Amino acid sequence: MKKGALIGCGFFARNHMHAWADVEGAAITALCDRDENRLKETADRFGVERTYTDAADLLKSEELDFVDIATTVQTHRPLVELAAGSRVHIICQKPFADAMEDGKAMIDAAASAGVTLMVHENFRWQSAIRAAKAELDKGSIGMPFWGRVSFRSAYDVYSGQPYLATDDRFIIQDLGIHILDIARFLFGDAHTISASTKRVNPAIRAEDVATMMLVHESGVTSVVDCSYASRLPRESFPESLLEVDGSEGTLRLMPGYRLVLHNASGTRELDVSPPLLSWAARPWHNIQESVYNIQRHFIDCLNASSAPETSGLDNLNTLELVEAAYLSAAENSRTIKLDTA
Ligand code: NAD
Repeated sequence: MKKGALIGCGFFARNHMHAWADVEGAAITALCDRDENRLKETADRFGVERTYTDAADLLKSEELDFVDIATTVQTHRPLVELAAGSRVHIICQKPFADAMEDGKAMIDAAASAGVTLMVHENFRWQSAIRAAKAELDKGSIGMPFWGRVSFRSAYDVYSGQPYLATDDRFIIQDLGIHILDIARFLFGDAHTISASTKRVNPAIRAEDVATMMLVHESGVTSVVDCSYASRLPRESFPESLLEVDGSEGTLRLMPGYRLVLHNASGTRELDVSPPLLSWAARPWHNIQESVYNIQRHFIDCLNASSAPETSGLDNLNTLELVEAAYLSAAENSRTIKLDTA
């Protein structure tokens, strides 16, 4: 049994806790949050007796195999370095870092300590996205040459996560990071990116719309587009939609988790809806299932001593896309060359 502690008992951590309860071979035995009310509320809800308001105290007092860091980005580097110093494995929420040098420093700290460092980059772990990838890998549409990964919504994300309305960066850093990571997952790393951003909602501080174009090393050109300002007749939050054109056919992941594949043999439509886990609630069930999938992957990797798919090192390439997208948007959509890890 791998014993873990959750650091950060905020808005999203409840999903982590439910998912940990379902992951075989893992148990959360201690909690930490510097906010005593949140700490107590989570401890009571999930029946965890050992609680700390200071992560250093937690790491000094508990015997742990891993920590699950579910705080916002500003605290990731100090907490990852602290955990690496105590030689425990680490799973850390996205955005892993808001500067490349912090990402690299965390990777170095984990490597020197000989511990696993995985980023909780969960969108690629959604079952609909995995089903689409399996079709591409099977060659169902031949060799992909063009793709679109799209997330457009007007869902009120600000009430659950008020920091999204006030941070200096919004949609690329919070949501685009996931959508860019899906593009990497499907089409591989990119040579170049260009981007344009816009703020439509006057009540928030940063951009709520972003459109990015990537040229991938595989030869695919993709468009990654995100919006929290799009009032659609049918709200599909939090679905990521896909369009991929290949040499032999096309793939579409449509609202309602409908995967449509077309090639010379005809058209197939598959229902790739995520399962509704016992603790999940629509429309979040898609994200909630991916939290379970990624946390299970983390434990599988610890048991097998293998590198996680979304390791810290892998995630540097997603972070680089985020940084390059902001740079491009600030410089009139200039094309930025990437230098992947
Ligand atoms: P939140 O502000 O609601 O919760 C963060 C908690 O961490 C707070 O309770 C805060 O007191 C605590 N905290 C901060 N620094 C701490 C420290 N040094 N020691 C102990 N506790 C500390 O934030 P949230 O909305 O739950 O988001 C947390 C992270 O999860 C963010 O990085 C966010 O981007 C990410 N997130 C991911 C997904 C996803 O699908 N992967 C979805 C939502 C949020």
